[in-house]
Amino acid sequence: CDGTPVDVAAIEPFVAAFRGSVVRSGDAEYDRARTIWNASIDKRPGLIARCSGLADVIAAVRFAREHGLLVAVRGGGHNVGGRALCDGGMVIDLSRMKGIHVDPRERRARVQPGVLLGELDRETHVFGLAVPAGVVSKTGVAGLTLGGGVGWLARKHGLTCDNVVSFEVVSAEGEVLHVSADDHPDLFWALRGGGGNFGVVTSFEYRLHPVSMVLGGLVIHPRDQATELLKFYRSMTQSAPDELGTYAALMHTPDGHPVAAIATCYCGDLAEGERILAPLRAFGSPMVDAIQPMPFPVMQTLLDAAVPDGNQNYWKSTYVRELSDDAIDVIVSHADQATSPMTAVLVEQYGGAVSRVPASNTAFGQRHLEYDLGVCTQWSDAADSARHIEWTRNFADAMAPFRTGDYLLNFLGDEGEDTIRAAFGTNYERLVEVKRRYDPTNFFRVNQNVKPHPA
Ligand code: FAD
Repeated sequence: CDGTPVDVAAIEPFVAAFRGSVVRSGDAEYDRARTIWNASIDKRPGLIARCSGLADVIAAVRFAREHGLLVAVRGGGHNVGGRALCDGGMVIDLSRMKGIHVDPRERRARVQPGVLLGELDRETHVFGLAVPAGVVSKTGVAGLTLGGGVGWLARKHGLTCDNVVSFEVVSAEGEVLHVSADDHPDLFWALRGGGGNFGVVTSFEYRLHPVSMVLGGLVIHPRDQATELLKFYRSMTQSAPDELGTYAALMHTPDGHPVAAIATCYCGDLAEGERILAPLRAFGSPMVDAIQPMPFPVMQTLLDAAVPDGNQNYWKSTYVRELSDDAIDVIVSHADQATSPMTAVLVEQYGGAVSRVPASNTAFGQRHLEYDLGVCTQWSDAADSARHIEWTRNFADAMAPFRTGDYLLNFLGDEGEDTIRAAFGTNYERLVEVKRRYDPTNFFRVNQNVKPHPA
């Protein structure tokens, strides 16, 4: 964001008409209002407009436009690169817009953009239904959906964005648009995977699926079993049914022991799930086997403790072509040298329903790939940042021979334009066209930015 100061006299009428609250530097709430999940981000917005509803969002967009302010849009605040905030300018903060309405007969939910995944799961679970979304309950539905959205149910029910029926959007002009397959179909296409480039989404309408009890949890092995466990993971995932979502993780226990784990969620018939997961439970000698039937919202919280608020974070994520023995060796040897015990190295499998949608159907283009490697580096002391970041980058460089050159938009930090282009793949040019149509001045640019006139 630029640091254009806002004319004080102009602010007062805006603040007076605002139903939510406007937080400014010097206000008691300012530091709390500019805090997001990743403590590495320390940005100082000029104004934080905490919207209470659609009318506030329109007022904020129009005010920012009129005064030439650069704007960041905040949903759940989980973007690891801190794109929910800006230095100077205005944050349109949607985190208090928490409305959720579930229609069990039509299997639809209308959801405001400040809702977190756990809050949505709680409401839909009342009816034995779920939206396929991510795997940490405090992530925001808004940013996650706009970037695609991968999680335990993706192989069976698709990406989060595949399950959006309509959006309500405040455009760069401050106009309200209803966006669906019939209304503004070009924008409907772009919002499903194109990130926050095209407007402020003030409501998401999701399709729901019958998911209530699942069979899930973790098996944990000592780290010296990591290579064998990853090979087992490879063969297990190659024959996995769509109902099975599985991640492998190289991490530490809370008391500091390096371990290799498999986290899994089976969302079909539970007895069939027991059969499918029997080989995983029989493999080697796990230190912990905590796989059991559980309500889906509980499954959705199992990884929460591993990614608490307030740590320093630097992440690198990339698709890998295949989990070859050589790739596994590089993954294990680097994970063993991790500079922080809070760091987790994850291998995640997608495919299934995700890959059965043609890449051109939505802006999310990376559908054919199965395995994503996430290096989620976390530490507590900001003074140590350089060494943790260097380790992460070295790990990513060592993976070069195995990378496909594709990326999941949702896991990108500050990677630069080439990586953003690569994340959009063959859909990039079409996204530029839609950007030109709906946001020709690049008003919404604090995001994984698609420029209306790329160099
Ligand atoms: P924010 O930081 O608030 O927003 C992210 C981006 O979206 C910003 O550019 C913002 O401007 C834009 N944006 C937000 N709301 C709106 C809106 N209403 N209208 C327009 N633009 C908007 N991703 C997955 O797919 N699956 C996972 O399982 C998963 N797990 C995660 C776990 C953790 C601990 C973290 C930190 C991230 C995880 N992610 C996951 C990535 C996550 O989906 C992205 O970081 C996503 O951007 C978060 O959305 P948010 O609303 O919380 O973020």
